[in-house]
Amino acid sequence: MVAPVAPAEVNPYQVALSQLDAVADRLRISDGIRQILRHPKRELTVNFPVKMDDGSVRVFTGYRVQHNDARGPVKGGLRYHPAVDLDEVRALAMWMTWKCAIVNLPYGGAKGGVAVDPRQLSLHELENLTRRYTSEIGIIIGPEFDVPAPDMGTDARVMAWMMDTYSMNQGHSVPGVVTGKPVSVGGTVGRVEATGRGILYIAQETARYLGLQLEGMTVAIQGFGNVGSAAARLLAQAGAKIVAVSDASAGIYRGSGLDIEEVLRHRTSDGRLVGYTGADHITNGELLELPVTLLVPAALESQITDRNATAVRARVIIEGANGPTTTDADRILNANGVFVVPDVLANAGGVVVSYFEWVQDLQSFFWEEDEVNQRLHRIMTRAFQQVVELKEREGCSMRDAAYMLGVARVVDAIQTRGIFP
Ligand code: GLU
Repeated sequence: MVAPVAPAEVNPYQVALSQLDAVADRLRISDGIRQILRHPKRELTVNFPVKMDDGSVRVFTGYRVQHNDARGPVKGGLRYHPAVDLDEVRALAMWMTWKCAIVNLPYGGAKGGVAVDPRQLSLHELENLTRRYTSEIGIIIGPEFDVPAPDMGTDARVMAWMMDTYSMNQGHSVPGVVTGKPVSVGGTVGRVEATGRGILYIAQETARYLGLQLEGMTVAIQGFGNVGSAAARLLAQAGAKIVAVSDASAGIYRGSGLDIEEVLRHRTSDGRLVGYTGADHITNGELLELPVTLLVPAALESQITDRNATAVRARVIIEGANGPTTTDADRILNANGVFVVPDVLANAGGVVVSYFEWVQDLQSFFWEEDEVNQRLHRIMTRAFQQVVELKEREGCSMRDAAYMLGVARVVDAIQTRGIFP
């Protein structure tokens, strides 16, 4: 079993730029505005030392990229992964700009990352790394400027350290500086499973739109982290039949449907699937090619490429990951009639509930879980409907329609504000 790592030749930033170029042509965006959108507004690279448990000092490299803030403070997660580099963070920051605009949040897009395998660090080293990185990027983050959140390799505990570090440097508690925090320190109920819940709502809308039944629908999910595992649990609760799931350590398949609660209980202490015996073993590659109705790629970017897209047999793809499909693969899937709900719409549930958390922090007034979920439902279904309407009007793919909606909103904000000075 190999980790789902993107083929080396696929640069996610090139994918993001070519997606932007395609929609800019469609929307006939002027050259000047196109140049603004093609360039991240601000990029910070930090090389910083961390004291390791054995007394040595190691230097790590981290990034924070703010793509565009025309619609409001910038927002986006923080990734800890060995493959993190500046181009990946640029791509992820740009995708956040479109995502926030598609679900109509008053945010621009940003992303951060540190090139590190968090599993190789002790808890103490992870805390040291997080606190030093937070201090280093402290000059450009803050509740009114840039609000980080969890992404791959980071979680609520990392967000608590970030919030505490930023607060110590400010001299007072600033809960609104990051989202995805534990509920005890200003987090919101419903944030942990928000991306997975958003995927459930999108799956329900997609099923209704295509005349399919979610009850009994066969589903394969690549990635069993925060996004994939929550999506699996919620889809299973809604009656779908999850036949396969995988992570970097293992892939499991049972044609009659996996017992997701049992799989969750059998995960290792660090949350991996390795060692699960109640099913057949498959590779990540095989999972993507299963004859299922719904495929949810919820791991890394560039998993469906021109090499395997023709072999995809799913009727519907809901992109839980950011950028799981390359541009060439997207063309092949469209030509083959696969209904693809793009990442910038499909996985927006996380940032939507991050927005709720930020609003609650700024007001120091906290909501009940049913209010969070109802509002999430309203925003996700409205965005889905708007994208479907545009898709039908333009006769294009869901991805092109989502990009048109999001990019047009950002362009409108840039033009309404005007170019300073
Ligand atoms: N990392 C998540 C994403 O890619 C959430 C970002 C956020 O909540 O700000 O959408």
